[in-house]
Amino acid sequence: MKINSTVDLVEGLKSGNYKNVFITTHHKPDGDAMGSTLGLQHILNTLGVQSSVITPTDYSESLAWLPGNEKVTNFEDSPEEVKKRLNESDLVFCLDFNVLTRINELGDWLAASGKPLVLIDHHQNPDAFYTYAYWNNEASSTCELVFEWARDNFGLEVINQDAVTCLYTGLMTDTGNFQFVNTRSQTHIVAAQMMEIGVDHVQIHERIYNVFSVNRSRLFGYCLYKKLEILEDCKTAVIHLDRQELEEFKVVTGDTEGLVNFGLGIKGIVLSVLIVDRTERVKMSFRSKGTFKVNEFAGKFFNGGGHFNAAGGQSEAPLEEVLATFKREIQAYKNELNAIEG
Ligand code: 5GP
Ligand code: MN
Repeated sequence: MKINSTVDLVEGLKSGNYKNVFITTHHKPDGDAMGSTLGLQHILNTLGVQSSVITPTDYSESLAWLPGNEKVTNFEDSPEEVKKRLNESDLVFCLDFNVLTRINELGDWLAASGKPLVLIDHHQNPDAFYTYAYWNNEASSTCELVFEWARDNFGLEVINQDAVTCLYTGLMTDTGNFQFVNTRSQTHIVAAQMMEIGVDHVQIHERIYNVFSVNRSRLFGYCLYKKLEILEDCKTAVIHLDRQELEEFKVVTGDTEGLVNFGLGIKGIVLSVLIVDRTERVKMSFRSKGTFKVNEFAGKFFNGGGHFNAAGGQSEAPLEEVLATFKREIQAYKNELNAIEG
């Protein structure tokens, strides 16, 4: 079954050619990743198509209430089960990422599987590993794309309450509640259509944001009080966390999410960086204002990528060395950063 266009894919799904669909997303999935994969699963259910949602790793407890969460399989917990599901599948959806390295070892399996790989994504510079891509770098989120794809090809009636709950979650989290530059008119049109379907946006907001543990609240306080460094000459805020600190605050997956945004909330700051010494590697989050392309910076120095103003990176080097490298390399961008209004 060749997939050269949206029509091929849609006709294949409508005519029952695909019986078993494998849906996956990136390492440490966020609201858009889980919202889009589970949202797509609910849509496929409505179409009578069986599917499995597979994550490469675990994810934040704050997403565990999403409808369908109980059936998600974590590759790290059950690699054999995931292998079996992949073998049994006749179509794979890759959502909210566009380079196979973002899904760890699972990426090698997908590449070797010979299955048709359909990408739905909004990150820059997709690698050409896919069979067919529904890709738009201007879309706010993968959830926005999944919603539009389903609406335009199958009609709004395939987007039920469970699907819209999942999809609104990613629309809301990836736009920072409709504040980031990725929010476009279509984003609001999609949000309006979601409200017409009956999405409970107040409840979703509550469940995503107002669920801090006491430890997480104290971690944020500690970081802002003790760990925030301001590089005044570069209009940059940096927070770095070592393993001992992660232990002290009993940090679990998802706990540092949103922390990097506090740096950008400071008047005059145009670049904010969070550097965390995770068990397997040092992980970095970058957020910028205006014209500073953090995805390029992350790609150049920290083997990363992402969006224009929001990106991530990683390093195998020790934490202090990563911090020093960042402070050294950012100097070359001083003029560029100072030209941005903060
Ligand atoms: P976050 O800082 O929230 O982890 O990630 C911000 C954005 O950068 C997300 O869109 C995410 O997909 C992307 N991103 C995060 N880490 C990496 C990475 O290591 N490599 C690439 N290519 N993108 C990343
Ligand atoms: Mn996304």
